[in-house]
Amino acid sequence: MADSSDARPSAGAALSAAALARLATLLPASSLSVDADALQRHGQDETESLRFPPAAVAWPASVAQVAAVMRWASAERLPVTPQGARTGLSGGALPVRGGLALSLERLDRIRDLNVADMTVETEAGVVTGQLQEAVAQHGLYYPPDPASRESCLIGGNIAEDSAGPHSCKYGTTRRFVLGLEAVLASGDVVHTGSANRKDVTGYNLTQLLVGSEGTLAVITAATLRLIRQPAATLVLGFGFDSLERAARAVSEVFASGVEPAACELMEARAIELLARSHDLPSELQGAEAFLLLELDGETSEQLLAAAARLGEVFAPNEPLVAQDARAQRRLWKIRSKIGEAVKGHSSYKEVDAVVPRSALAALVRAARRAATAAGLESVCYGHAGDGNLHINLLRGELDQSTWEESRDRAETELISSVLELGGAVSGEHGIGWTQRRHLTRALTPATLDLMRRVKQAFDPLGILNPDKIFP
Ligand SMILES: Cc1cc2nc3c(=O)[nH]c(=O)nc-3n(C[C@H](O)[C@H](O)[C@H](O)COP(=O)(O)OP(=O)(O)OC[C@H]3O[C@@H](n4cnc5c(N)ncnc54)[C@H](O)[C@@H]3O)c2cc1C
Repeated sequence: MADSSDARPSAGAALSAAALARLATLLPASSLSVDADALQRHGQDETESLRFPPAAVAWPASVAQVAAVMRWASAERLPVTPQGARTGLSGGALPVRGGLALSLERLDRIRDLNVADMTVETEAGVVTGQLQEAVAQHGLYYPPDPASRESCLIGGNIAEDSAGPHSCKYGTTRRFVLGLEAVLASGDVVHTGSANRKDVTGYNLTQLLVGSEGTLAVITAATLRLIRQPAATLVLGFGFDSLERAARAVSEVFASGVEPAACELMEARAIELLARSHDLPSELQGAEAFLLLELDGETSEQLLAAAARLGEVFAPNEPLVAQDARAQRRLWKIRSKIGEAVKGHSSYKEVDAVVPRSALAALVRAARRAATAAGLESVCYGHAGDGNLHINLLRGELDQSTWEESRDRAETELISSVLELGGAVSGEHGIGWTQRRHLTRALTPATLDLMRRVKQAFDPLGILNPDKIFP
């Protein structure tokens, strides 16, 4: 194994004319750019306002081209940052050391949809929403549904183990990945797992690569498990007079024996910000928090019976009930537009905390305490059924240095509370670049050391997405 210490790529790695010329022999001219606009675009994702332009951008269109680029990068000792659609929220796709931004967006073919076995083999650059539509035409369902699904890519979802509202019942991306095709930092192509529902042949490298945030290998294709589309859905909304009460209600939903497909929580302030730009149902007025539940199953009758059971649990709170597709879309819009509404109101720092469901009310209290102590406003909403809340700390009118100091103080205190509650630093947005400082508190030195050795085994030269995850 090569020693990485001397060979590590340098900060802000630039490309020599000779290295660029060698790269240009591996790709068509239209697949490589050093154009200033392209460098700016590929130097940012959706994480705050961070900018790290690479020295060049490549758009390979086949696994062979990805392999050739990685062989070149190894030979040149240059950093490579894999990129999907750059919708990430923890800075994982930022080329923080310059070098090459490797966009996977042109690997955009669905290779094989196997309706009989209910699997799909897809390339990494397929847009998640488009994959969902393609399989839905055959009555099949790929449940992981990040709110960014109309733009994010399957490869990015796998690299982040992304989730969404329906992870509540069906689990995160990881539950659906059966096998992967990936390119190592050396340029070697590996195949992990298979298209089988069960497979214990050797180490489970598939699940090691899921959530590895582009630091272990470049994912070029995946075989995904599909399920049947549920025949019926019902959407319910419950208003509560306090956020804590709503957070406690989440456990009561599951204790009632009803397993919701989605269970989302929003606090009044988030709804109030949304109401500035959207026409909302009048029943939401006056509630301090709102719980949105989706039930799915075989028949509407079955779902209405489950809804009646929940109605009894939360009596005298009357639910909003949406049975037809239009009414359901209207209720879902409240949840899906909240992120934008908060972002439009103020710049913010998001803490993507996850705790055991029973600790949700305590998390909400901790968020308020940490924000208030730092002189900030907080807004909470998110995937309550998974114990995963997006806690937005709002900047408001603060000047830059006061904001940075207050934000870091609130975030540090909040993460301490999350860890005390048995929670984790990130539920779905990853550690990437912005959450690294919390890792030493979240993991023991022995665990962190093992992770570093895994990284070393996959990428001995340290060229693949350097400076991510590890503090
Ligand atoms: C409006 C909005 C809503 C969002 N909602 C959700 C949500 O509900 N749930 C959720 O989980 N996330 C959400 N996100 C975050 C983001 O969309 C997800 O993390 C998504 O999976 C990122 O996919 P991407 O294609 O944009 O990847 P990128 O942002 O380009 O990359 C993300 C990470 O994956 C790595 N990567 C990308 N492609 C590959 C590949 N082929 N091989 C190896 N590594 C790769 C990158 O290096 C980086 O570390 C949201 C983001 C926005 C802007």
